[in-house]
Amino acid sequence: MDFNALLDELELDVLFVSNPHNVRYLSGFTEGKDAKVVITRAGASLITDGRYLVEASQQRFPYRILLKRSEMNSLLSEFFQGRVGIEADHLSVATLEGFKKDFPTLEFVSTYGVFERLRRRKTPEEIAWIRKAAQLADQGFEHILPFIKPGVQEIEVALELEFFLRKNGSEGLAFSTTVASGERSAMPHGGASPRIIQPGELVTLDFGCVIRGYCSDMTRTVAVGKVSDELRSIYHAVLEAQTLALEAVGPGKRGQELDALARNHLTQRGYGEYFTHGLGHGVGVFIHEGPSLSQASEDTLEADNIVTIEPGVYIPQVAGCRIEDLALVTDTGHEVFSKSPKHLIEL
Ligand code: ZN
Ligand code: ZN
Repeated sequence: MDFNALLDELELDVLFVSNPHNVRYLSGFTEGKDAKVVITRAGASLITDGRYLVEASQQRFPYRILLKRSEMNSLLSEFFQGRVGIEADHLSVATLEGFKKDFPTLEFVSTYGVFERLRRRKTPEEIAWIRKAAQLADQGFEHILPFIKPGVQEIEVALELEFFLRKNGSEGLAFSTTVASGERSAMPHGGASPRIIQPGELVTLDFGCVIRGYCSDMTRTVAVGKVSDELRSIYHAVLEAQTLALEAVGPGKRGQELDALARNHLTQRGYGEYFTHGLGHGVGVFIHEGPSLSQASEDTLEADNIVTIEPGVYIPQVAGCRIEDLALVTDTGHEVFSKSPKHLIEL
């Protein structure tokens, strides 16, 4: 990355990066929450503490080890000068007050979304890692199907799935796994509870892997035995909406118009009011990043974005269903990373 050009564009002398996802994105340092990156005309440096001596030496930038938290500002005084950019969406008020007190002659300038914008377009390396994370998630889905049956708790299913993913190379979990059955499937982010899965229910599984710090994200809803015509009709309406939106993904498509494709279909089927979230989001070092695909989105897809397409219908006290794929936007259209089957699986 050309840091001088970036500082020129932002009219800054220094940029202080504190958002853990941006620290990780820039430096490759895995514990972004315990480090900062300072960008100056002389280049970028990483600051972390003594617990990470070994890891600090393995990332991209020269590094400095902070022995005491209270010494942060005296260390920063070697880097700070003139106009210093901060990440206004992340830096705490207390930290900024400390800067202003300790550096009374400097000007602190709020920046917004500088690296978040850059993170939207993935490099070939980033694309390869996310593709791999999605492949592992597909294997996890195949592995978990035989465990989903009447009499089993949601949490047992979630733990078996997580154990499989970790054992097979996921560095952690991209987010808390959802295994939501019966009425609980009407909660879009229901997590996994001790509830016992019953015959005739829908079960929604939403989970993701992490490979080299990059996330995957996929949701499937399955039926336990035969489900009612009502649940079957919800499932098919969601699948049709998901297919319509997914097939339309490509460069130049607006997040709002893709959302509308799925939403209008669900509305025609009588479920519009139960689709209570946006269609999808970008995925990278953070599970929810730009571009956003929703009614309020002002984003337009570009090649090398990686986004989810995940419409859902959630009817309180009845059931819910969501189907989510991860897809790469290519120069001419898209490539779907999630390969797990999408027909209604009856276990
Ligand atoms: Zn998801
Ligand atoms: Zn998602």
